Amino acid sequence: MVRAIVGANWGDEGKGKITDMLAEESDIIIRFQGGSNAGHTIINNYGRFALHLLPSGVFYGHTTSIIGNGVALNIPYLIKEIDSLVSQGVPKPKILVSDRAQLLMPYHVKFDEYEEERLGKKSFGSTKSGIAPFYSDKYAKTGIQVSELFDQEALREKVYRICELKNVMLEHLYHKPALDPEEIFALLLDYKEMVEPYVCDVSAYLAKAIKEGKNILLEGQLGSLKDPDHGIYPMVTSSSTLAAYGAIGAGIPPYEIKNITTVVKAYSSAVGAGEFVSEIFGDEADELRRRGGDKGEFGATTGRPRRVGWFDAVASRYGCRIQGATEVALTVLDVLRYLDEIPICVGYEVDGVVTKDFPTTVKLAKAKPVWKTLPGWKTDIRGIRNYEELPENCRKYIETIEKELEVPITMVSNGPGRDEIIYRK
Ligand code: GDP
Repeated sequence: MVRAIVGANWGDEGKGKITDMLAEESDIIIRFQGGSNAGHTIINNYGRFALHLLPSGVFYGHTTSIIGNGVALNIPYLIKEIDSLVSQGVPKPKILVSDRAQLLMPYHVKFDEYEEERLGKKSFGSTKSGIAPFYSDKYAKTGIQVSELFDQEALREKVYRICELKNVMLEHLYHKPALDPEEIFALLLDYKEMVEPYVCDVSAYLAKAIKEGKNILLEGQLGSLKDPDHGIYPMVTSSSTLAAYGAIGAGIPPYEIKNITTVVKAYSSAVGAGEFVSEIFGDEADELRRRGGDKGEFGATTGRPRRVGWFDAVASRYGCRIQGATEVALTVLDVLRYLDEIPICVGYEVDGVVTKDFPTTVKLAKAKPVWKTLPGWKTDIRGIRNYEELPENCRKYIETIEKELEVPITMVSNGPGRDEIIYRK
């Protein structure tokens, strides 16, 4: 059975924790998009980890972790991440890298930095991990596939072609040092040595695994609203964050994805620029940011303070719909314990008209939140394992959200740890 775990919001919903938890019953966990630009924070018996490129299943001895073809593969970063796990006492995970994955190169990172610098105040708030230049190259057919590392003659020729193109931009647009093709070629030979032990025909491997009835998890990065097609374009990421893309980014038939577990956060948070209707500011925001997540709402990759807001039913329902959510995991609910009353955004007012449908970015910029206020529960809910034991107001909050989402909430996460979960029948 193939199950996807994806985000309904702007990312940081706690997908890492849910994946780590569900990985226990899985055989294979796959990253199918994105790169090391976002991170999952995972807390388990080995310690606290921020994973950026590896799937969240790497902590179990029985699982195989796969970097799918849809991922932006930063090879030195991958090796560094594997080494850092091992040095912290995690048994060396079994890792496979798709021979069709493409390489994220140091020049992608540079181009990302140069472009943000050029845009100045109008920048996208990129994490500067090279993701946009990487995917631009992939679709412009000037990317380098892992498989190409194994044909050195053709590779060298390609590197020269790539440099010719890039150097025009570097010289005339960014006024930065040019790329040296021989240097890049030498680097690629190093990359080949590093990645070779992991390279695999992943789609063939998965076809066999599906036939054998293995349990497979597709792990998404970021969330619906950062999808380049269906998100808040252009303040989005450069690869699809949707479960549907899991089929492409892993190389499996779309109809094999039977379950789409969509992770929804009990309040809102976002990193970087972009429309965010239910955002809050000032002391109210500072308090939520300080209390949020497991160590406050600060980016797992960049350490940047996240923007925060109340739960947005319009954005989250849309986020679930566009993912094709079959069930929802509601996370970080424990964080809201300090509030007497909890506002949730149940509509957007655009040009005097209230809508419950998430609009395109142009309209979104004009949207004002319509609030509904629910009573708080004012107690610590960590440690509770049975739904019925939650305070009544807490259950009311969950059930109100469930009604708004139009998808069953089957799991409620009430703490960052692996076991801090309440299953609902
Ligand atoms: P991801 O990218 O979706 O995996 O999310 P992140 O790892 O960036 O952010 C989620 C943060 O919330 C991490 O610091 C988690 O440890 C933490 N977290 C996840 N679930 C819960 C929860 O139910 N309660 C609390 N307090 N923290 C949680």
